[in-house]
Amino acid sequence: MRALVTGGAGYIGSHLVDELLANGYQVTVLDNLSTGKIANIQHHLENPHFRFVCDSLLNASLVDRLIAECDVVFHLAATVGVKYVVENPLLCIVTNVRGTEVVLESCYRYWRRVVIASSSEVYGKSEKVPLSEEDDSLLGPTAVGRWSYALSKALDEHLAFAYHRQGLPVSVVRFFNSYGPRLDPRGYGSVVARFIGQALSGQPITVYDDGRQTRCFTFVSDTVRGTLMTVSSSKAEGKALNIGTDRETAIGDLAQMVREITGARVDIVHIPYREAYGPYFEETRRRVPDVRRARELLGFEAQVPLEEGLRQTIEWFKHQLD
Ligand code: UDP
Repeated sequence: MRALVTGGAGYIGSHLVDELLANGYQVTVLDNLSTGKIANIQHHLENPHFRFVCDSLLNASLVDRLIAECDVVFHLAATVGVKYVVENPLLCIVTNVRGTEVVLESCYRYWRRVVIASSSEVYGKSEKVPLSEEDDSLLGPTAVGRWSYALSKALDEHLAFAYHRQGLPVSVVRFFNSYGPRLDPRGYGSVVARFIGQALSGQPITVYDDGRQTRCFTFVSDTVRGTLMTVSSSKAEGKALNIGTDRETAIGDLAQMVREITGARVDIVHIPYREAYGPYFEETRRRVPDVRRARELLGFEAQVPLEEGLRQTIEWFKHQLD
């Protein structure tokens, strides 16, 4: 099997590439290295089953050729992370919407099995617990930049389902707060990376608001396993699937865990949202996936406990500092 992974030099993409190669796939990565890093795929560059193409997703003729040459497509390239998106809204919208359009157009032309990466952000600020795939999205006004990410992903999903109605074997995976080695140490889009970075560099850990907001942190090996199970399941075609753990962790507790596992003697400080994100930010206080569909259709269950995943992630971060 030949796989194309867009965004394959990124944090989740590169772990997916590792797994695909280990499973005997031939892998092509398309990545423009905007947020992806060559270091994430360096170890495969000499592998004859691996090919890296450094270019933009918006180069439609190139994407078309790469999709013609493969059997399955994993579309992970996107601008990610709410903070990054708030700072670069135009780039986010164009990459996420036009990029997915380009990929789906060619998948349809060559009738390729394709998995589109989406995000728990599509549920927006819905307070429902847990969030199941058919639940409503609750997004804020278009004047608030942060919702452009959720909207762009929601539009990607609509596009995917529209192609499915034409018969295309496409699935959507909604990732819930994935974390692990290779997270961007600048902390874009990941509180786990930020906290570890802060602790290891001796800075205070910055918990926003009261720290009682929660997320379900999913170790990257689970994120990748769920994605691979999706591509091989015909039952998952035409569906969105939550990929994540349903174990909920308060951000204040995460800060304590990071401090404890790193052994760092740093303070945990609380910062108002307004100061962290600017005046128009809206926070999602709880975000828990309903994991039944992934369990029933794929037999998928997240396995790695947060403590264990944090240990591995912290080890990786320490090596970066060496
Ligand atoms: N957060 C925090 N301190 C930080 C960065 C983030 O307390 O330095 C909180 C943030 O308010 C949110 C949670 O951590 O409640 C997860 O944030 P992240 O940006 O990782 O992801 P998302 O909000 O997209 O789930």
